[in-house]
Amino acid sequence: YLVIITIFHISFVSAKPSNPLETAVLCKDQIPPPHIRNKILTSSDSITNASYDYGNIVHKIPSAVFYPSSITDIIELIEYSNNCSTPFSVAARGQGHSVRGQAMAYKGVVVEMASLSKKRSGIRVSWSSSSGFYADIGGDELWIDVLLAALKHGVTPVSWTDYLYLTVGGTLSNAGISGQSFLHGPQISNVLELDVITGKGELITCSKDDEPELFYAVLGGLGQFGIITRARIVMAKAPTRVKWVRLLYSNFSIYTKDQETLISSKVPNYVEGLLILNETIPDSWRSSFNSSSNQEKITLLLREHRLLYAIELVKYYDDQDVHRVNKEFEMLLKEMNFFRSLNFSADVSYFDFLARVPRLDVLSTPQSPTHPWLNLFVPKSRIHDFNDGVLVNLIPKIDTELIIFYPFNRDKWDSRMSAVTPDENIFYTLGLLHSSSPNETKIYDKVNNEILRFCLKNNIKIKQYLPHYKSREDWIKHYGSKWNDFQEMKAKFDPRLILSPGQRIFN
Ligand code: FAD
Repeated sequence: YLVIITIFHISFVSAKPSNPLETAVLCKDQIPPPHIRNKILTSSDSITNASYDYGNIVHKIPSAVFYPSSITDIIELIEYSNNCSTPFSVAARGQGHSVRGQAMAYKGVVVEMASLSKKRSGIRVSWSSSSGFYADIGGDELWIDVLLAALKHGVTPVSWTDYLYLTVGGTLSNAGISGQSFLHGPQISNVLELDVITGKGELITCSKDDEPELFYAVLGGLGQFGIITRARIVMAKAPTRVKWVRLLYSNFSIYTKDQETLISSKVPNYVEGLLILNETIPDSWRSSFNSSSNQEKITLLLREHRLLYAIELVKYYDDQDVHRVNKEFEMLLKEMNFFRSLNFSADVSYFDFLARVPRLDVLSTPQSPTHPWLNLFVPKSRIHDFNDGVLVNLIPKIDTELIIFYPFNRDKWDSRMSAVTPDENIFYTLGLLHSSSPNETKIYDKVNNEILRFCLKNNIKIKQYLPHYKSREDWIKHYGSKWNDFQEMKAKFDPRLILSPGQRIFN
């Protein structure tokens, strides 16, 4: 009887580790310092959350999830990894709004950046004679909270994303684009200073004058060189209201000509565009500018043209300027060649305009929808070939939730930054924001791949935004002349290849 009890104990009770971290085996030759150990969890909830993202396509299981309560905690975690003979990888996870596992760390540690925000208010607005208004913001903060905090001081960041429930560190690791980018550049062009914890565990303050190599590498650097813990962002006086119109087109040449006139005129504050096809008019289109009579007209136009193009145009103003702005807008619209019989306009508060897209959660169940997005930058010189081959012929093969298409001025992007764009003065972004059931993801990816193949075959030198590649060769091609510097910066700031393995560049 005693023997049976002993065998039972050995095989079932002793087999259960006293510390769940032992199952994680982060580092074979080191025990984490106690205050770090307490913040590393291996519970199934934590692991499941960290192995899902908005895309719900890639699921990489980390060994553990780290919940820092201070920046020092993150430094010590990275130091601990560096001290192991075989370091474990570390991925900062903002809100997990990536779509291809970029914020995951297979067998490594995912750092839940949101756990920093619980302990502090990470947004501070200041003014200096050299920089004007600026804000120091924690890398873990959401842009919606930045907006709310800035508006209390009557100021605002100038460059945005369409959706504000993204983190400052997450968008600055990509670029951060929206309808203001033609005028102010992407969000990465509006950063004055950063605090970054490198892959060696050093906390470095950098800017264009101090430690410029790290500063430019991190901006658009896909999390490869360090974890952004603070960003100093340019601010400007906040307007109170916006005039917002949508213009419809059926002719691509006229549409792109009008978009380019708008981005060179500097009159609007925001210019975007979208595609409307096969009567699948995006929800956002219906809800913001709802009108049943317009809806009927659009349906008729779609029957005639199959594909419609829309420009979204916004002018900011303060209450006392309403007459001047109305006049300016009228003049501007006179120059545009849209369907004049359709009139979509709205007048909303600045806040309501920026916060127009409601919060979307990362749903961590296998049945949740997948988002096999494809985001491209397309050089202006090939935009007509791209329209014929991709917008007219390939995209209508599938039902897509939202298709975004609008131009940027290249001179608002600093080529010293890691972010890559086509090498032309004007380029367009195409955002195919697909939503699919899990078993149909492949159908969307097939069309995505056809689009990429079409560009390759026809020598249209596109660049992926929010890129995802499977081979080193593809990454080298993506970075082109920047690849050597990118590699050199990796060797300098993260020599043991610890950071953001989910991007699959070096790991
Ligand atoms: P995560 O997905 O968590 O992380 C992204 C990458 O950055 C990972 O590699 C991660 O390791 C790294 N990272 C995260 N935090 C840090 C940090 N503090 N320091 C260093 N590296 C870090 N993008 C636009 O430009 N414009 C848009 O309008 C736009 N709209 C979107 C709307 C929706 C609904 C979604 C899902 C995404 C949208 N995006 C847009 C894309 C978005 O910019 C990326 O998903 C980006 O990664 C930010 O998401 P996140 O903060 O959740 O970062």
